[in-house]
Amino acid sequence: MLLQVAMGTLELKQSLTGHRGRVWSVCWHPKGANLGSCGEDKTIIIWGLEGPKWVTKMILTEGHSRTIRELAWSPCGNYIASASFDATIAVWDKKSGQFECNVTLEGHENEVKSVSWSISGQLLATCSRDKSVWVWEINDDEYECDAVINAHTQDVKKVRWHPHEEILASASYDNTVKIFKENAADSDWSCTATLSSHTSTVWSLSWDKIGNRIATCSDDKTVKIWREYKPGNDMGIATPNNESVWKCICTLSGYHTRTIYDIDWCKTTGLLVTACGDDIIRIFKEDSDCDPHQPSFTMICSINSAHAQDVNCVQWNPTIPGQLASASDDSTYKTIRTMSNATGNKVGIPLKDVVSAMNKFADTSLAASWDNVGLLVEPTESKIVSHILLTNDLTEDVMDEAIKLKTDLIVTYHPLIFVPLKSITTKSWKERIIARCLENKIAVFSPHSSFDSVKGGVNDWLAEAFELESSKPIQPNEDNAIYGFGRLCTLKNRISVDEAVNLVKQRTDLKHVRLARARDTDGYINTVALCAGAGVSILKGISADLYLTGEMLHHDVLDAVHQGSHVILTNHSDSERGFLKIYASILKRNLQQPVEVYVSESDKDPLQTV
Ligand SMILES: [Zn+2]
Repeated sequence: MLLQVAMGTLELKQSLTGHRGRVWSVCWHPKGANLGSCGEDKTIIIWGLEGPKWVTKMILTEGHSRTIRELAWSPCGNYIASASFDATIAVWDKKSGQFECNVTLEGHENEVKSVSWSISGQLLATCSRDKSVWVWEINDDEYECDAVINAHTQDVKKVRWHPHEEILASASYDNTVKIFKENAADSDWSCTATLSSHTSTVWSLSWDKIGNRIATCSDDKTVKIWREYKPGNDMGIATPNNESVWKCICTLSGYHTRTIYDIDWCKTTGLLVTACGDDIIRIFKEDSDCDPHQPSFTMICSINSAHAQDVNCVQWNPTIPGQLASASDDSTYKTIRTMSNATGNKVGIPLKDVVSAMNKFADTSLAASWDNVGLLVEPTESKIVSHILLTNDLTEDVMDEAIKLKTDLIVTYHPLIFVPLKSITTKSWKERIIARCLENKIAVFSPHSSFDSVKGGVNDWLAEAFELESSKPIQPNEDNAIYGFGRLCTLKNRISVDEAVNLVKQRTDLKHVRLARARDTDGYINTVALCAGAGVSILKGISADLYLTGEMLHHDVLDAVHQGSHVILTNHSDSERGFLKIYASILKRNLQQPVEVYVSESDKDPLQTV
């Protein structure tokens, strides 16, 4: 994905689709104008801009017989090296104008996991599940194996060269990172330092701009920052064998809930970005006034459900500050996001602040005593909300829509949970929805009768079908009579029944409503008693020319028409749903920060007139 930080928020710029199957890796051209990606489909796609859009420029195929795990662009931009599970590394060059695979490097016993070019472009490093790290020397397009380093005891996941020198770092399943250098005397490559403090697989690493710090990420759900102390350092740290010592100077824990697969340290902004198995992309900024030997970092941004599945790779654009590309297991999504001015706030708003903004409009204390309102589902992780979906009913169709829209919070007018639940299994539709909300870390809030009661809520929205002289609650709230249930309205001018029907159709956007005409009336309407939803308990016995509600039983309708009241029925939720559009703008205004508020498109009354 392409993302951009705007005012400290990470904004999705574009989803790049083209790969079939999971996308393992993305790599920017050194000038930042092109992007390469590779994955399960054994292809490399090169993307470039066409106007404002990223489009496929080239598709490279037939270099590998299995998954391509990683690709690396040479510093000059004329070569691409790709590492594959077929145990080979392919080198693609642009001599013919198009990238072509002219070299295949063999030697690893099995899956090659990572590949990296040194800054001079003269050395290539590769690593594999065979536990070895290889250094290849390049002379006039001839690739020669310079060293096979067997320093790790397990699968090696990542190799990365120092940004300016011929020093190599590797991360492994053996929980360590190792630093390698060529010995000037005998040209042997050897391990000069082992960084051990992670308690599980180290998946990736990234050097900082200068090259004296490394950030690592692990299956132990932490990020660690390591610093090099050279012989004769000011801190008086001992350096045995006259070799640099690497110390862990910071551990970021408590942020990630699953394995962290990748990390990238931005060379232009100094920001750290992580790709996590919890589908979240997080961005950390070093605190400006901290001790360089004990730095601290603040998470300035987190994109929930950045992808629908594991985020495998993240990389900052080398030249455009704040632009970020990520790759995921969800093949349809390889998107680029960009970021600018990453000094501000996190993306979105904490869930508790959204809840208080909702309560500001209609406090849940306004709800009826029998009701079940408020936050009904809450993820355990502190939740940042950037996408809200409004619906009248949370059905399985709406749930699909919520996941597609990467919703963090569903506001469902009717409470999904009403009677106590004894289990959360897949056996009933409600339980399935709750399970999916929990699995996708989606919060659910229901305002229900607090929206009926509040001034400017659902009932007032429905009453505005008519031109009103006055309107007051039929059952006023005990503490404040401007709130309450149902509305008894006096119209400015009397209208005919047919006019009333048309006004209700306009208000609710319905083609059909149901009408019961009263016996013995003059046919005109001066007063309307209404209640959105199933209103009979509120309306019963109230004297008015017209009853307007969503549904009523046969015998209640008979009582009403014999008492002299016409009855208009929509369907239950058709008398309520239209308010969501009004509420969307109220909520956006009350949140004061850019949050996407959608009104569901799949939400509809289950009953249709056919
Ligand atoms: Zn209702």
